[in-house]
Amino acid sequence: MKTIQGIGASAGFAVGPVFLYTDALPSIEPKRVDSVEAELVRLRAALERVGEKLEALETETAAKVGKAEAEVFAAHRLFLVDPSFTGEIEKSIHEHNIQAEAAVQGVALKLRETFEAMQDDYFRARAADIMDVGGQVIRELMGISARGLEQITSPVIVLADELVPSATARMDASLVLGLVTSRGGKSGHAAILARSLGIPAIVGAGPEILKIDPGASIIIDGGAGTILLEADPQIQQEYLQRKKQQQARLSHALTNAAQPAVTLDGVRVEVAGNIGSMAEAGRVVEFGGEGVGLLRTEFLFLDRLIAPSEEEQFQTYAGISDKLGNRPLIIRTLDVGGDKPLPYLPVSSEDNPFLGNRGVRLCLGRPDLFKIQLRAILRAAHGREIRIMFPMVTTVGEVRAARALIAEARDEIVAAGGQAGTPQVGIMVEVPAAALTSDLLAAEVDFFSIGTNDLTQYTLAVDRTNPSVQNIADHFHPSVLRLIRLTIQQAHERGVWVGLCGELAGDPLATPLLLGMGLDEFSMSSASIPFVKGVIRRWSREEAAALVDSALGQEDAQAVVAFLQQQKKPESENS
Ligand code: PEP
Ligand code: MG
Repeated sequence: MKTIQGIGASAGFAVGPVFLYTDALPSIEPKRVDSVEAELVRLRAALERVGEKLEALETETAAKVGKAEAEVFAAHRLFLVDPSFTGEIEKSIHEHNIQAEAAVQGVALKLRETFEAMQDDYFRARAADIMDVGGQVIRELMGISARGLEQITSPVIVLADELVPSATARMDASLVLGLVTSRGGKSGHAAILARSLGIPAIVGAGPEILKIDPGASIIIDGGAGTILLEADPQIQQEYLQRKKQQQARLSHALTNAAQPAVTLDGVRVEVAGNIGSMAEAGRVVEFGGEGVGLLRTEFLFLDRLIAPSEEEQFQTYAGISDKLGNRPLIIRTLDVGGDKPLPYLPVSSEDNPFLGNRGVRLCLGRPDLFKIQLRAILRAAHGREIRIMFPMVTTVGEVRAARALIAEARDEIVAAGGQAGTPQVGIMVEVPAAALTSDLLAAEVDFFSIGTNDLTQYTLAVDRTNPSVQNIADHFHPSVLRLIRLTIQQAHERGVWVGLCGELAGDPLATPLLLGMGLDEFSMSSASIPFVKGVIRRWSREEAAALVDSALGQEDAQAVVAFLQQQKKPESENS
């Protein structure tokens, strides 16, 4: 048996035959042409046809999945008129007297190299986009088609170099047992798609996977990031068994998922979902989520060349709330920064983008853009259970400035004859300074939501994107847990409710501890909701509270985990 190690992007097991998705193009040798003019005519015609196809894909995706998901195709269409792409292609045809296909290939490869050298997930995604669009133009010029994912007719594990939106748009996800890509990172399109559909996935597995025999049966473990080849039937059976157990645990948990999470001593805790797209809202409800505790609005802003309009944002926020059947929806305002610069929101290059101009800091510096989002949220909040949350807050002054912009946005809506809601206003507590001054911040807001992903990064001084320090980045470190306890205590003393929407909320091992600290709301990816609800039902708040001092007195994260493992309670029939 052989194994290939990649990056686990979506947990779960899959065993099945391989479908090798290849959008590989024949290698194109530049040849001299007689007429440059004729090549330019061919190129323009191909660009036009690709534009039409992308427009059709956009319409189809908007109808089938959602407007925000369709937006990527609009961004791809913009490449077709972008001088740094098409202008360069025309220049290359002129300068080198070569056929259009070779010019497209040359420019696309060069742009890909530039993007990939930037070593940043956002730019890596642009690299895939440019190859996606370039490939489509070349295919159009050559009159060939790719082995599209729409040709999948029976259950398979899809292997691909990279899975780009135009490739997955027509895929029947119910036939995809698993996804493996040789390139890409955890926040790439394939990884996000897999997690939102609940499909096991591995990314960054390297070019070796493309040599796997297309007829072979393989095993993937999406949690561990491992691909097993040539496994004997006994091992295949073992993994099928594991998959069955996982499904059985999930369906057991799902039978009670819709029931509220009430502790043995009658305390009701809210369990909500984290989402980053319109499509995921349905899954939150399906998995028993009582609302959305974190809508990452970045999905509306990334992958496009111009900012989304107020109307588009309003439609999306209102649409998600309606899909939730008016369960509470917390909309987090835009959280981007130097690590994910947007073409319409340039940030000067920073040595330490995570310590730089990101989140609410960036938005306060661009009130014009920020108020568009605030107006869209306020309008959507009229008659809906919508709340606003600001990310990366460090000081009281930032909250006051952001609230002043909410007031201005409201006045503007009213002046234009519109109607605005009066949503609760909260902040993410994800910077140690905010946790330490949570008594002061509590006076300014209705709620807190603790972001343990960033709180861990900033408390332990570990860059969350740097693989070489990920062993230190543990949200169970007593320092992080002490900041969480402090925040909850100080908020409760001032009548402010507290949620937690970092990864820690979805880890059932942490549930008794957070329950014991008095957390009011847990928000996590949909798949974890039934399990966390189950744990809450097995504890009383009093029993859980008795654990807190001992857990926070442990010397390091490993000791906290070992302590919590000992406290685990077995699953019961009705939890
Ligand atoms: C967090 O930091 O914990 C959080 C939920 O926000 P994000 O992961 O989007 O930074
Ligand atoms: Mg964060």
